Amino acid sequence: MEHIRLAACRVGRDPRQVRLVAATKFVTAGRVLEAVKAGVTICGENRWQEAQAKMAAIGEEPGLTWHFIGRLQRRKLKMLVGRFSLIHSVETVDQATELDHQADVMGMQQPILLEVNVGGESTKGGFSPLELIQALPAIDRLEHISVRGLMTIPPWEPDPEAVRPYFQQLRELGDQVTESSPIRIRMDELSMGMSHDYVIAVEEGATLVRIGTGIFGQRPR
Ligand SMILES: *Cc1c(COP(=O)(O)O)cnc(C)c1O
Repeated sequence: MEHIRLAACRVGRDPRQVRLVAATKFVTAGRVLEAVKAGVTICGENRWQEAQAKMAAIGEEPGLTWHFIGRLQRRKLKMLVGRFSLIHSVETVDQATELDHQADVMGMQQPILLEVNVGGESTKGGFSPLELIQALPAIDRLEHISVRGLMTIPPWEPDPEAVRPYFQQLRELGDQVTESSPIRIRMDELSMGMSHDYVIAVEEGATLVRIGTGIFGQRPR
């Protein structure tokens, strides 16, 4: 947390604008609880089954909320609605439409982020910047999702400084979305930065950083 604060201050940002999402895939419920006791308030999970088991084991924990940060599987999409306070990883208009439908059925609004594949990598999901701009009118019409911003996972670079242009690109894309004057879509959040590169992400405007190994150590492979 101290590193996040320092990185924010270095570029003149209010450190309170940056929230830490603890990426808890493969981390046991017991260790998640320890992290919560140590001050973690948001846990990010990648798979519904694993998240479900952990949420059940932990139960209601004051101040703890869950985000979904993993790839969305069509069959599990419905399960996420209403159970995660933010879904970071919506990659297509179809996914947004299905989430919207389920939220409508449940009489609620589901907060989401749109994932952007800034590096254009075939192994990663997400809208290309052009696809995102083209998809905006359709997504803006969905009344039961609430788009709060953008998320990205940039290409892996040994030197985190090398990913700075991708984070800048995400921020500029967010500005471009705002300038297109959507009605419902908001661009308040930028979910970018992981253990390896979060300092750079915070310098470039991240409001949510997703950190796993930096908190919990190496995951089993
Ligand atoms: C696992 C994961 C993270 C955290 O990665 P670390 O390198 O362990 O910090 C962040 N975002 C997503 C989407 C992840 O799956």
